[in-house]
Amino acid sequence: MSKTLIYKFGGASVKDAAALVNLADILRNRLRNNLVIVVSAMGKSTNALEEILRMKLENKDYSINSTNLKDFHLSICRDLFPESHMIFPQIKNYFIQLNHELNKALSAVNYDEFYDRIISFGELVSSRIVMEYLCLQNLLVLWQDARELVVTNSDFRFAKVNWEETKRNCQLQLKPKLAQFPVLTQGFIGRDRQGKTTTLGREGSDFTAAILAACLQAVSVTIWKDVPGVLNADPKRFPSAQLFDELGYAQAAEMTYYGASVIHPKTIKPLANSRIPLFVRSFVDPDLPGTKIHQNAPIQNLAAIILKRDQLLLSFKVTDFTFIEERHISLIYEKLRQLKLSVNMLQTSAISISIVLDTQLFKLQQLISELKGEFEIKYNEGMELVTVLHPQKELLVDLLGEDEIFLEQTTRNTFQAVRKAKIS
Ligand code: ASP
Ligand code: MG
Repeated sequence: MSKTLIYKFGGASVKDAAALVNLADILRNRLRNNLVIVVSAMGKSTNALEEILRMKLENKDYSINSTNLKDFHLSICRDLFPESHMIFPQIKNYFIQLNHELNKALSAVNYDEFYDRIISFGELVSSRIVMEYLCLQNLLVLWQDARELVVTNSDFRFAKVNWEETKRNCQLQLKPKLAQFPVLTQGFIGRDRQGKTTTLGREGSDFTAAILAACLQAVSVTIWKDVPGVLNADPKRFPSAQLFDELGYAQAAEMTYYGASVIHPKTIKPLANSRIPLFVRSFVDPDLPGTKIHQNAPIQNLAAIILKRDQLLLSFKVTDFTFIEERHISLIYEKLRQLKLSVNMLQTSAISISIVLDTQLFKLQQLISELKGEFEIKYNEGMELVTVLHPQKELLVDLLGEDEIFLEQTTRNTFQAVRKAKIS
């Protein structure tokens, strides 16, 4: 029996008709049973769905947005399928269902649950189109609803995996199918015990690939990307970025923690626990080896630069001439936990606490209103968090130039600074 492999294709690898043709080309010689293919929503369609949700929350008319999103999918299909193909009514059907869901009442209380139900349509439509296109190309794959496999708690938008039940589903439902066919499924989505759709956090499809790999005891996971592998900086901003041929799990996990967007941060742990190697390879040059992330990789001392945009710098100043105490920190952290906001950087001084967060403005207002009795709160939007692992002096001078630094921190192997994000 062949060993189980997992392939994951993200939004960029299914963003238009040419991308789907390319994906089929990659699979043509690689398709076999015991292969699981995980696909994301097409291009930026998850962002488009988030925008629709935002408009709905603000009672704005989102009908043009939803029509545009439908047309985006239909127009990709017009380039790939004959006019009479059943994918066209299928897409229309998905959008009828989406609009039906959108018409239901939304409030701040049920927002997260509503969000997951709506946002999952991106993955469902995409996986349906990819499956039909592959079959049209004589590449037979079975379509699997990932929600029947991935069981989670009801922590909507950030659902936690129920490993035991997910493993059972993978072994009992997926494995027998895989023995005969390759299976194509969605990333990012799951289902709670009540049968409600949940999601694993934005960009969570990589994590799904890792979950399925761990539950199926796969021999490897391959994430197909628009970059040649894991680089020591974003090649779009640093053209001279260098490729890592190999990386250890810990080093890769550290890079994702600081914001390297090449792999989702939660992906590494389940793979490391099961010692399953992760390959990051280029869908543009599929014959290149890419990066192998595994147990026995040598330590890399190459400096790595990670830039994280859309950051918010918040400072909390005590107002009553006391100093910062543990109680202040735990008060702030407790509110952050309740709002599901996580801290990317923290610094305390005698009278203030500064934290850096991903920007989520509606939560910010709530945070401020709940803590303004205790602190004087100031914030800066549009910041960028710069992290350099294994930094060298000249590199930092080059990187930061004359930029105004709002907050800075250096530890043995890591340098971090917050500056105003540059427009590029
Ligand atoms: N489509 C989802 C997102 O964009 C999941 C993913 O792409 O990994 O967040
Ligand atoms: Mg995506």
